[in-house]
Amino acid sequence: MEELRKDPTRGRWVLIRPKGHDAANDDCPYCPGAESATIEIAAYRKDGAPPNGPGWSVRVVPASDPYFRIEWELIREGVGMFDMITPRGASELVLESPRHDDTLATMAPEQIESVLWMWRDRLLDLKRDGQIRDILVSRHHKKPGVAWHHPYSRLTAIPIVFDETRQELREAREYYQYKRRCLYCDMLRQEIGAQGRVVRLTPGFAALVPYAARSPLETWLLPRRHGCSFEDALTADTAADLARLMSQYFRTLAAVFGDPGYELVLHTAPNLRSRILQGDWATIRDDYHWHIEVLAQPERINRVGGIFVNEKPPETTANDLRTSWQTA
Ligand SMILES: [Zn+2]
Ligand SMILES: [Zn+2]
Repeated sequence: MEELRKDPTRGRWVLIRPKGHDAANDDCPYCPGAESATIEIAAYRKDGAPPNGPGWSVRVVPASDPYFRIEWELIREGVGMFDMITPRGASELVLESPRHDDTLATMAPEQIESVLWMWRDRLLDLKRDGQIRDILVSRHHKKPGVAWHHPYSRLTAIPIVFDETRQELREAREYYQYKRRCLYCDMLRQEIGAQGRVVRLTPGFAALVPYAARSPLETWLLPRRHGCSFEDALTADTAADLARLMSQYFRTLAAVFGDPGYELVLHTAPNLRSRILQGDWATIRDDYHWHIEVLAQPERINRVGGIFVNEKPPETTANDLRTSWQTA
């Protein structure tokens, strides 16, 4: 029986989940021609071809062995002094391209733009469900030598707020309570002024290496216009601008930095419809600022206790990225 259990000594949630069986399958279940193996949640098709067949450019399917399921009942339970919630939610895969060997470095910017629109579609749809509190959009790229899988990003919708999101929201709110300004807008203003950690500026976005980067090559893509949620901020202009920036960034990583593995996470506001207490997220529209974080070479992350050790100064990384930037 799957359960979300809260560790009261850390305030941290853990998913307890007996191991399921992974279907060992050599044929990719996500390539065109195999559509009948999965049930389509959403898709973009040019010619109006019917669902669950080929002809798609981006397609969303349920994860094959999901951590969170929409059909489960949401139960909150006290177990003596402990807290438990059933893992009701959703685990979806956004198949980013029909081409099995595509990556964000090989896809055309227009294809990446379609993926951004699909993230938005799925976030808006899942957020209509008031029992879903938070949705993580993430993407893993494997380091060289690790077996390839069909390119997809993952949406994980859960009935609690992810611990990392909660901490980030708390910091942003506290900064705002103290200064009446958005932490990220302040950071953008300072970084763009100083320039040392800015990798690339577009009309709508800044790519920068954060001041306290956890690992070499960590990069954040921040919208220059304030807004707490990605799905509200995406317009024809911002989507095209962001897709082009992402395409150039991942092409640079692939061409100059040895195509390292990475984790991409979209940081966007939780589901504001799922407010439980009156004061929840009272100032979030002003205090939080959506963005994308890319943590490259996660396998090279060093930690001592909880402290990350980064052996490459962020200013050096920013300079390396800037001077080798692939604009094509
Ligand atoms: Zn495939
Ligand atoms: Zn802001």
